[in-house]
Amino acid sequence: MERKFAIAIHGGAGSILKETLGPTLEGEYKNSLENSLVAASNILNKGGKAIDAVELAVEIMENDPLFNAGKGSVMTHDGEFELDASIMDGRNRMAGAVCGIRNIPNPIKVARMVMTHSEHVLLSGKGARRFAEKMGFERVEPDYFFTLERAKQLKAARKRDKILLDHSHDEKHGTVGAVALDMNGDLAAATSTGGLTNKKFGRVGDSPLLGAGTWAENKVCAVSCTGQGEAFIRSATAYELAARIKFAGLNLENAAYLAIHETINSLGLSGGLIAVDGFGNIAMPFNTIGMYRASLKQGEKPFIGMFKN
Ligand code: ASP
Repeated sequence: MERKFAIAIHGGAGSILKETLGPTLEGEYKNSLENSLVAASNILNKGGKAIDAVELAVEIMENDPLFNAGKGSVMTHDGEFELDASIMDGRNRMAGAVCGIRNIPNPIKVARMVMTHSEHVLLSGKGARRFAEKMGFERVEPDYFFTLERAKQLKAARKRDKILLDHSHDEKHGTVGAVALDMNGDLAAATSTGGLTNKKFGRVGDSPLLGAGTWAENKVCAVSCTGQGEAFIRSATAYELAARIKFAGLNLENAAYLAIHETINSLGLSGGLIAVDGFGNIAMPFNTIGMYRASLKQGEKPFIGMFKN
């Protein structure tokens, strides 16, 4: 049976306020989200695969310095760029991920290669880079990732000796992710990030961890999370959401709501997620002030949002 496709993307959750963002940046974020959504939807519209759509949506946002992924990634305490990404195919729960990878512009594409061209699921640091090079990925110098905004954020974070993902302050985040249902009824999810500003000691967040930041399982749901990674790891958020649907019979909206507003809230931490189920329902809850997000259901008007409501 052919289904209607559905897709959702996010560009991170945080203290995103209309007043502080300003009209120019608001317009830029809107365009960027739209570009990613449209390109990925075109794949689905032609009958293409969910896994290809989520990879492309994330790749486009990785190439955009506005987001904390790929090109616009935040800096570690030592002023380096160490990127995390994962991708999961709901058809067979095949998955690939990289963490702490340096010098590679599009970690999501490497994650896809880990899924398709290795016998492993998660590769880290130097090994992940060696694998990427072996697969023919171009290596770039660290200044490729450099943006003035991220350098300023690091300086401020170092001064406060703080790992930045305090959503009560004015830091901008921008981890990116995508979830999709294709016309075949297959689900997929992808997430990519630079992590947290001022992260130390090889810290790895939830984004490359299946079950924490990313999950996709046909007939259940596809999920991509953003926020304080430690909270999402401690809650196995993406899988918790899926389990509430699978074992407790909740619908997507309720399961997604509880994952954020009950579980993440109960840890006193913050973030958001996007999720789609096998019927094409979409949920995008967050307990931060805002979340960059966009979605499209086949035959309906696209939605682009940043603030509450
Ligand atoms: N979840 C990401 C991490 O903890 C950061 C983010 O979503 O902004 O690495």
